[in-house]
Amino acid sequence: MTADSLLNTTMPRCLLAGEVMVELSRAEPGLFRQSFAGDVYNTAVYLKRCLPACEVSMLTAVGRDPFSVAMKQAMVEEGINTGFILTHPGKGPGLYAIHTDASGERSFQYWRNDAAAREWVTLWQQTLTGSEPSPLPQADLIYLSGITLAVLDETQRALLFDWLHQARESGTRVAFDPNYRPQLWASVDEAAVWTRRAYRIADIAFPGMDEHKLLFGHKDCFDVMDIVAGWGVKEVVAKNGTDQIRVLFNETMVTIPVTPVAHVVDTTSAGDGFTGGYLAARLDGKSVRQAAQQGADVAATIIRFPGAIVPEPAFTEALNRLRDTETTARPETAG
Ligand code: ADP
Repeated sequence: MTADSLLNTTMPRCLLAGEVMVELSRAEPGLFRQSFAGDVYNTAVYLKRCLPACEVSMLTAVGRDPFSVAMKQAMVEEGINTGFILTHPGKGPGLYAIHTDASGERSFQYWRNDAAAREWVTLWQQTLTGSEPSPLPQADLIYLSGITLAVLDETQRALLFDWLHQARESGTRVAFDPNYRPQLWASVDEAAVWTRRAYRIADIAFPGMDEHKLLFGHKDCFDVMDIVAGWGVKEVVAKNGTDQIRVLFNETMVTIPVTPVAHVVDTTSAGDGFTGGYLAARLDGKSVRQAAQQGADVAATIIRFPGAIVPEPAFTEALNRLRDTETTARPETAG
């Protein structure tokens, strides 16, 4: 372990809290392909694939319906621990469909207002006896996003923050991606208040430029990074499409160039995959530069394929090919 390591354990336990949905994408006219996705879930999948030694657990709620059963099975097949997933007595998962217009432009249609995942905090509270050392399961790292918060009501959000504070007091690190989705919030102000609160308890954060302009009126990425660091976040990772990645860590800025992918097929989950790859590297004792490179490699691989979750073994084969190319072109990336 070095001074810059995130943890001093070789088998980290990570808890990823958020919504998992049923995804429908058009296979051919009149026929949809069904899979599972959701920002935090996507990050969980790519984190586990990049660091199999990590125990990756999802914290969410599903139902008793066949989609929910299949969703948990998909997680098991990805090596994700489903032991903390709650079962709602009467609700099931949310659903979204991906539409692509004649010019290839994608849009998303959601049916998630009544999803079981919107009540996972209440359901979790009902399982607590009061004798637990901490309300949330023991973990080295907890990851959540702005969508995790947006789909909960105010009471549940406040309760979750209380639990997160307690987890931090016992040494758990918190990672946060704001993933601002205006339609999920009552107002920009509401989103800004809760996003700022989340930053204040985060050790690592992944702000995006566009969302910070909308949420806080921040001007540019330096503005964003300074302000987020000022809120107490020790490791600020700023990414924005093909712009270079900047990490502000220990008051030092590290910059990593992004090599644009020539033929982008689908950018869905690029950011989520980046986060999964980044966290996996940091949990594995790698430097922030190596972590950003791994995040960029994972994202660059994802966008060469359709859908949020690239099937195995195609994902790992493509990722390894990309890394081989980089090693040949850029042998000095270590450190
Ligand atoms: P999101 O908006 O989903 O959070 P970003 O657009 O910020 O995601 O992209 C996340 C990462 O994905 C970028 O930092 C970069 O590493 C990678 N990425 C995105 N678009 C491209 C591209 N066209 N070519 C190569 N890498 C890309």
